[in-house]
Amino acid sequence: MENTKQLLRNLPKVDECITQIENFVGPEVPTAIIKQVVQECIETERQKILFAQHDTTMSNADWMDFFLAEIERKNRVNFRRVINGTGVVIHTNLGRSLLSEKATNALAQAGGYYSNLEFNLDTGKRGSRYSLVEKLICDLTGAEAALVVNNNAAAVFLVLETLARGTEVIVSRGQLVEIGGSFRIPDVMTKSGARLVEVGATNRTHLFDYENAISPETSLLLRVHTSNFRLIGFTSEVSAEEMVVLARKHGLIVMEDLGSGCLVDLSKFGLPREPTVQEIVKAGVDVVTFSGDKLLGGPQAGIIIGKRDVIDRVKKNPLNRALRIDKFTLASLEMILRDYYDTECALKNIPTLAMLTCTSEVIKKRGYKVLRKIKKEIEAKCHSCLVSTVSRVGGGAMPEYSLDSWALALKPLELGLNAFESALRRLPLPLIGRIENDIFLVDFRTVQDRELSELSVLLIDFFRVERAV
Ligand SMILES: *Cc1c(COP(=O)(O)O)cnc(C)c1O
Repeated sequence: MENTKQLLRNLPKVDECITQIENFVGPEVPTAIIKQVVQECIETERQKILFAQHDTTMSNADWMDFFLAEIERKNRVNFRRVINGTGVVIHTNLGRSLLSEKATNALAQAGGYYSNLEFNLDTGKRGSRYSLVEKLICDLTGAEAALVVNNNAAAVFLVLETLARGTEVIVSRGQLVEIGGSFRIPDVMTKSGARLVEVGATNRTHLFDYENAISPETSLLLRVHTSNFRLIGFTSEVSAEEMVVLARKHGLIVMEDLGSGCLVDLSKFGLPREPTVQEIVKAGVDVVTFSGDKLLGGPQAGIIIGKRDVIDRVKKNPLNRALRIDKFTLASLEMILRDYYDTECALKNIPTLAMLTCTSEVIKKRGYKVLRKIKKEIEAKCHSCLVSTVSRVGGGAMPEYSLDSWALALKPLELGLNAFESALRRLPLPLIGRIENDIFLVDFRTVQDRELSELSVLLIDFFRVERAV
């Protein structure tokens, strides 16, 4: 047992360590990183000695391992690609929607080259970034005018701030929802300066509830898609058409926060029926907002569409500048929207739609490709087989709906399931799956065809390396 003073004296010298590491790792690692790591590691050790948690001097080799592990950690890119084996298609934590190939190419173009972002090529004068997608959105939705902002939360806020600040907005109690990530309709309303007037009961709201609540202070009737929340049983809500008639009678605006905002009727492909954006526009709703990266399958964006005079007012709001979308969003959104001119193209090219409408036979074939490659290779370490399972739409859309799917079921022989799940999550290419009934599942609905061989190699390599439990 050495005394504290002696232990502190034995701590390595920062400069010597830096030189030693530099010689070992070569010029790839910036000296700034090496220096910071050395200082942090030595400081950590000093604290341990001072608090009597460490009573031996570390060997040179121990120090080197400590430094290199920390350097590796610091050097690792934080924002990384993962394989989504959860089966949740619109997975908000894993980046929501994947873009089509055309859309990702457009991102690279927008980043690597100058563009006509705010330059009118016909007139040679300053242009508007919004005009680049406005006509497209109007064509596809039947709306008179459109505007795109940072996300749907921003869209809802901007519209309310423009149209309802200092006035009353009537909302059904059945629609006062929290969407997740702390987006709550009543809170957004307060921030926008509008006064919330709740009507009806949680399960039932009638047209007369709205009518009785209308006062000289009322400016707007708001409808909110309940997204990740469903009321069942003895329920009723007022239709968009009925609300439009009521609003006209009193000179009010009807707004709908549609949430996901789907342009294709997915019930034709076996999914539950959701009102499409086109139907809401057709019903006469004055202003509709929805996300770009939920069922639409595009980049993060908030799309605002509606009557020209209403949208013009929103466009003039100076807050717009704070909520505006960047060139990457615009570039990729345009490509995604263009595919919607032809529904077949949209279903084939837009990954979110392709994954949602993929049949379980196709998914099963994907699974067999991987199983065939890995089964023999890993059988000494892990049981593997294909099992039928169910995937979810995600993104707050169709919350109670299950899509039939197939998953790779893995059960390691020595490793505990939680340790297994965590180890896969921390690989250089992380694999995210789910544990269900004591097996680890990789749902192939959300694994891309181009990822199948990577997935096989990843699992084979994982079990090839002897791992400490
Ligand atoms: C998801 C959602 C939002 C928030 O949209 P973001 O694009 O995530 O900002 C708002 N309202 C409803 C009804 C939603 O479903």
